[in-house]
Amino acid sequence: MLKGRNAIVTGSTSGIGLGIARGFAAAGANVVINGFGKPEDIEKERAGLEAEFGITAIYSGADMSKGEQIAAMVAEAEEKLGSVDILVNNAGIQLVSPIDTFPIEKFEQIVAINMVSNFHAIRAALPGMKKRNWGRIINVASAHGLVASPFKSAYVAAKHGVVGMTKTVALEIAEMKITCNAICPGFVRTPLVEAQIADQAKVNNMPVENVIRDIILASQPNKRFVEVSEIAALATFLAGDHALSINGTSISIDGGWTAR
Ligand code: NAD
Repeated sequence: MLKGRNAIVTGSTSGIGLGIARGFAAAGANVVINGFGKPEDIEKERAGLEAEFGITAIYSGADMSKGEQIAAMVAEAEEKLGSVDILVNNAGIQLVSPIDTFPIEKFEQIVAINMVSNFHAIRAALPGMKKRNWGRIINVASAHGLVASPFKSAYVAAKHGVVGMTKTVALEIAEMKITCNAICPGFVRTPLVEAQIADQAKVNNMPVENVIRDIILASQPNKRFVEVSEIAALATFLAGDHALSINGTSISIDGGWTAR
């Protein structure tokens, strides 16, 4: 389905990004994986993708809080793979804290990694997509790109920004065979959410089991975590030729959370 396409998935050494990179590789795309982690674990994952799916996988350690590193990652991918046809802006971090004591540097870091990085990556990858008149940009936003929760000021602001940027880019490239969409997941049990469960337990002074039942999944009517594989399948569909008319939208995959 994606054979011959080259994809960058930011923040793909863990969680949702890793799932999307694996989904793309399974569909035949070459992938650039990115993110932090132990070098030996990352190399195992990279080599494993090549061996399992017969594609080319390269690793970029670019820091998504640094614009020049993001541009260099895109240039390296274009040089080594020949093009960047699919860009998934997925890297993200979270901190749960009341706004009046929210650490200033953490706020700026969350906005940089979760939102401003999308700008840098799109800015760098779009000229090549325009030249070839084909491209797919998928921004992993969140249900928190559409609605808010208390204690998540930086994350909610950044994800709403991602949804807005998605619409703007979609309008700019609408006449080309390029699309830009956002995916808005509900809760997925990745390391990012494990950390939030711990943060919420602290902020609310509650046991972990109660946080999961009464806070985390309280907002999700289906009462179960979204699976990484479900998000990977959606991203793979959006990256394919048949998704050409899906543009500028924010697709919820949240068990009904934002239907409330
Ligand atoms: P995760 O913590 O499992 O993975 C985050 C990835 O981003 C890792 O690969 C990490 O190394 C990378 N990363 C972090 N900072 C980086 C930086 N400065 N530069 C490069 N890479 C960096 O998290 P996840 O849950 O898989 O989240 C992935 C995306 O999905 C995030 O944008 C998150 O906001 C979004 N999301 C997650 C959930 C959820 O419930 N887990 C829900 C909605 C949206």
